[in-house]
Amino acid sequence: MFESLSDTLEGAFRKLAGQATINEINIGIAMRDIKRALLGADVNYKVVKKLVEDIRLKSLGEDVVKSVSPAQMIVKIVSDELTELMGGEQKPLNLSTKNLPAVVMVAGLQGSGKTTFCAKLAKRLKKGGKNPMMVAADVYRPAAVEQLKTLGLEVGVPVFSLDEQDAMKVAREGLEAARRGAHDVLILDTAGRLQIDDRMMAEAEALKNLMKPEELLFVVDSMMGQEAVNTAKAFNDRLDFDGVVLTKLDGDSRGGAALSIRQVVEKPIKFMSVGEKMDDLDQFYPDRMAQRILG
Ligand code: GDP
Repeated sequence: MFESLSDTLEGAFRKLAGQATINEINIGIAMRDIKRALLGADVNYKVVKKLVEDIRLKSLGEDVVKSVSPAQMIVKIVSDELTELMGGEQKPLNLSTKNLPAVVMVAGLQGSGKTTFCAKLAKRLKKGGKNPMMVAADVYRPAAVEQLKTLGLEVGVPVFSLDEQDAMKVAREGLEAARRGAHDVLILDTAGRLQIDDRMMAEAEALKNLMKPEELLFVVDSMMGQEAVNTAKAFNDRLDFDGVVLTKLDGDSRGGAALSIRQVVEKPIKFMSVGEKMDDLDQFYPDRMAQRILG
């Protein structure tokens, strides 16, 4: 992941390390390289502009210029800035509620990895001592319901579904079933489409109002780059979600989505998915991601 970005940044730092002094000129060149690297990784233009300016100002600070190893200090500055850009601290899932079950609603475009994520999360929560149930409200594609059931069997978590195309009814009855079964977490898989459309959004909104989820998570394919960011913005404008799940970070994603989403929608990235297997899910740690980007 992010190989090309890592390589270009490393090149910029190598040039600086070879300089006897750090000054406006070589910092200017390094910033140009960093800017190019980030834009090449499909990071949002406004995000890049602000980031590079912040890095430049900090790099020209007295402490850096006079330090024994200015180039190393600049790497540290870039690392800190990237961490901040991706949200700083890890933000855990919030499952606290007075009325069990806690509801985790999952939304996103079709193919983003929603259904897979639901099952991975269910597995993870079960391992952590919870008693989750999944509800298949992706009602328009029978294959999606079947897929969730199959994954449910694989991870040993029950799946509630109905043989009808009424997502609200499925959600409502799913909630009752979860209460009857004393489940403490309900994971709601919802319908996505290939593109944003009003019907999908209206349904997701109605489900949100009905289920009042503790967590409404937006799942997005990191390989979509800037399009991932635009989609996140459209979903957030309408649904005001609580957190982001970035998927397919095992692929040759360039980094743009991971680096831009947080700034653009001001919501934390909570999880990252790194493969198709049920254990390929990690919490998202901005500092670890910055380290990986810097190689
Ligand atoms: P949905 O339509 O949003 O529910 O998407 P699915 O969960 O069905 O996922 C679409 C495809 O992407 C499936 O083939 C998944 O196995 C695959 N997929 C999901 N997450 C990941 C991931 O993190 N990495 C990779 N490589 N594939 C993934």
